[in-house]
Amino acid sequence: PARNTAHYPVQPNCELLPESGSKERVRYSVVIPVYNEQEVLATAYDRLKAVMDTLGEPYELIFVNDGSKDVSREILERLFATSQSVKVLNFSRNFGHQVAISAGMDYASGDAVIVIDADLQDPPELILKMVEAWRQGNDVVYAKRTVRQGDTRFKRWTAALFYRSLRILTDVDIPVDTGDFRLIDRKVCAVMKGLKEKSRFVRGLVSWVGFRQTAVEYVRDRRFAGETKYPLKRMLRLSSDAITSFSEKPLKMAMYVGAILALASIVALFGALCAPLFTGSGVSGLFALGAVVVFVNSILLIAVGILGQYVARIHDEARDRPLYILESQLGFEEESRHGGA
Ligand code: UDP
Ligand code: MG
Repeated sequence: PARNTAHYPVQPNCELLPESGSKERVRYSVVIPVYNEQEVLATAYDRLKAVMDTLGEPYELIFVNDGSKDVSREILERLFATSQSVKVLNFSRNFGHQVAISAGMDYASGDAVIVIDADLQDPPELILKMVEAWRQGNDVVYAKRTVRQGDTRFKRWTAALFYRSLRILTDVDIPVDTGDFRLIDRKVCAVMKGLKEKSRFVRGLVSWVGFRQTAVEYVRDRRFAGETKYPLKRMLRLSSDAITSFSEKPLKMAMYVGAILALASIVALFGALCAPLFTGSGVSGLFALGAVVVFVNSILLIAVGILGQYVARIHDEARDRPLYILESQLGFEEESRHGGA
């Protein structure tokens, strides 16, 4: 079959897929975000291929190269040249894990889309279980980790804290201890494409859209090689995206805290003014007043800070930039189903 390399300066708008005209309809699409994963790609491919082959139906492996700075790109191009099932999306720079997943989902044409990390922390063999649950009529099958091996204690604790606080803060039922490793039915994927928000927290969006969802459990392995691409800074950004995307409670919390502190400061002020009447001691008024001023200002700062988060998001949406920019793509049809440029 003709395999072509198309170049798009800008990512075409992601629209719902019409039926693809290819001869062999892809049944499963595996989306693999890749950022500096040169050490793991070959093994990841082998293990994914082994698993997908056992399903006995046509599949595609969509590697989304998220602006890797190592030789991941060259490795992927070599895989593309040797394997029929491999497709590659090359981002023009690093756009982040969540965007990479979204791009892969945009370009996936299978009836079921499976998102899996490249680093083999998510065992590819679990895909078989997911497919089974999907065949039984579930639209989303997410993998819930029971144990996280290999991750540092710090990572485990921060992750646990993150999932729990997200659960408290948001009204959307986002399952705890679930990463992006999941199977998504074509129809759910189509709905996801319609969600254009930029600060994406994909697993939250998947929960938000609904449909029949279920979990399969697994033990999270250690990374096969390389190191995590989620340093503290990125984890903080992800959690802030998650919380501001799926909860308005921080805004309300600021309001409550503000109200309580305002009340407290009134009491304090009143106390400071009345105390000399009873004790006859010198005036601590200046001190009290100073404290009150600091109090009030800190409330304002907190509130403004939180508001700023939301305003920043509004700003981000209003700019309406494309979610990502493709430098090149390998293995997708030329007149792409995504409406061309
Ligand atoms: N990743 C990505 N873009 C990024 C960071 C990570 O595509 O900016 C990919 C990475 O290659 C891996 C997956 O996202 O396939 C998860 O990243 P990682 O394993 O570093 O995260 P962790 O498992 O430590 O949370
Ligand atoms: Mg990992």
